[in-house]
Amino acid sequence: MLSYRHAFHAGNHADVLKHFVLIELLRYFNRKEKPWWYVDTHAGAGCYALDSEQAGKNAEFSGGIGRLWQRDDLPDAMRPYLDALAQFNPHGRLTFYPGSPALAMTQLREQDRMRLFELHPADVALLGQTFARDVQRVQVRKADGFSALRGLLPPPSRRVVVLIDPPYEVKEDYRRAVDTVADAIKRFPAGTYVVWYPLLARTEARQLPERLADLGAENWLDVRLAVKKPPRDGFGMFGSGLYIVNPPWVLPQTLEAVMPWLAGVMGEDGEGGFDLEHHIE
Ligand code: SAM
Repeated sequence: MLSYRHAFHAGNHADVLKHFVLIELLRYFNRKEKPWWYVDTHAGAGCYALDSEQAGKNAEFSGGIGRLWQRDDLPDAMRPYLDALAQFNPHGRLTFYPGSPALAMTQLREQDRMRLFELHPADVALLGQTFARDVQRVQVRKADGFSALRGLLPPPSRRVVVLIDPPYEVKEDYRRAVDTVADAIKRFPAGTYVVWYPLLARTEARQLPERLADLGAENWLDVRLAVKKPPRDGFGMFGSGLYIVNPPWVLPQTLEAVMPWLAGVMGEDGEGGFDLEHHIE
């Protein structure tokens, strides 16, 4: 089933958390010259026009990036993410929202490589067009990202950031996300694996971070941004989280500086909140 299109959600609160952290991870990897690989198992379309019919339908970006764009009180640690967004909106008006592949591209150096997987025929075609001029560094494939990751580990450079960002429209995605990380850790224990997950009342969503923790990785970080209280009727997403295996040691400090502010700005009717837990040796 491929009914999910990220264009309807581009730039929402979940994208803000995920993409801010992604930029921080890649900036950290750029501290060393040694090449890295970025693997996006569920890449989406790559870049989104916010004035399109899809993005405009529920205008989710207005409760997300729309609340940050052109604010003058941003925490310093959020600047690199906003600077990356500005590259897509050079005239100051927020018109385009880059997805994870386009944002990762802002950090990519000559020696680095990206491997992008997407199953939706229309989105993979858009992704292919976006990166057509850089086939040397970026490969786009229409493939199941969960299975495709196996063939890439360990990466030649022994440095990799993997984003696992499924739509979770089907129950299977929860199980497959955990199985994929379990397998990835076996193949390449030193990789940085990032799993995005929704905050939802449904059991599979609540259990996902616990099941990832049960994999027993020594170094991990779990960050959650709630934008409202869990709905009483049990329906609907009230925030999102990222479970990261092998996060950079500087990430907790960055998140401690940003999350209280972000929860305040993103929260609806003052009901935003966050959780941050980690263990890094
Ligand atoms: N990572 C993107 C970003 O942050 O900009 C957003 C990705 S979106 C949440 C999930 C995407 O996964 C959708 O575009 C969907 O078509 C795609 N998808 C669903 N199942 C997939 C699978 N098994 N393998 C690869 N892509 C898949």
